[in-house]
Amino acid sequence: DALVEVSGLTKRYGETVAVDGVDLTVLAGEVYGFLGPNGAGKTTTLRILTGLIAPTSGRVRVLGGRPGESAVLGRTGSMIESPAFYPYLSGLDNLRLLAEYAGVERRRIDEVLELVDLAERAKDRFSTYSLGMKQRLGVAAALLKDPELVILDEPTNGLDPAGMRGMRRLIRELGSGGRTVLLSSHLLGEVQQICDRVGIINAGRMVAEHNVDELRGEQELVV
Ligand code: ADP
Ligand code: ADP
Repeated sequence: DALVEVSGLTKRYGETVAVDGVDLTVLAGEVYGFLGPNGAGKTTTLRILTGLIAPTSGRVRVLGGRPGESAVLGRTGSMIESPAFYPYLSGLDNLRLLAEYAGVERRRIDEVLELVDLAERAKDRFSTYSLGMKQRLGVAAALLKDPELVILDEPTNGLDPAGMRGMRRLIRELGSGGRTVLLSSHLLGEVQQICDRVGIINAGRMVAEHNVDELRGEQELVV
C-alpha cells in the first residue's frame, strides 16, 4: 500500500532544475530515507509533497490525493523548515495555539509532549530550549493531528550528538509504532541506522533505491 507515489517529478527555477524526473514510492508503515548531498533537491521534493509549492511537471499522489488538499493535509504531519515558535511562550503554550487552530483536543498535547520527551520542560520558555529540543517540539507539532504520514526535512541537521541521538530514537519509535515516516538526510550512517528503505538523490535525480540492509558499500555515492 503506497502512501506517497511520485513519478516524473520535475521542478525548475528558471534555468535551475532543482528536481529532475524523480520517481519515489513510500509504502505504508515504512521509514523511508531520502538521502543526498546539499542542493540535491530533497527540500524541494518534500515541499511539493506537503503542498507548499507546485511542481513544474510530474505526477504526485499523497494518501491517494493531491498534496495541499485539506483531506490530505489533515492526515499528514510535517516539519520542513526549522520550526518557528513564539520564543517567549512555553513549549506547551506554543502547542496549545497550534492545537486550537487545528481543532485538536488538549489531551493530545500531553501525549505528543510525552512522545518527544519534552513533558518535563513543557512549561519552560521555548527560547530556553536546546536546538534538539526545539526540533523535537517541531516533531510534536507535526504529530498533533495523529497523522498517518510524517514528513521531516533534515530533522537532525545542526544538532549536537545528544540531540541527534534523541531525534533518531524518536524517529525509530514513530516507525515501530506503525507510523509512516519520510525523512531527508545527507548522512548515510543516519539513514542506515533509522530507515527501512533509502532513496538516493543527487543533482535532482534519483540515483538508486535500496533496502537499508543492501546499503553497505554505497558510501562512494554520497558526499
Ligand atoms: P536539498 O534540500 O537537497 O539541499 P534543495 O531542494 O533545497 O536541495 O535545492 C535544490 C536546488 O534547487 C539547489 O540548487 C537550490 O539552490 C535550488 N533551489 C531551491 N529552492 C529554490 C528557489 N526557491 N529558487 C531558486 N532555486 C532554488
Ligand atoms: P535547505 O537547507 O533546505 O536546502 P535552503 O537554505 O537552501 O534550504 O533554502 C531556504 C529557502 O531559500 C527555501 O525557501 C528555498 O526554496 C530558497 N532557496 C534555496 N536556494 C535558492 C536559490 N538559489 N535562489 C532562491 N531561493 C533559494
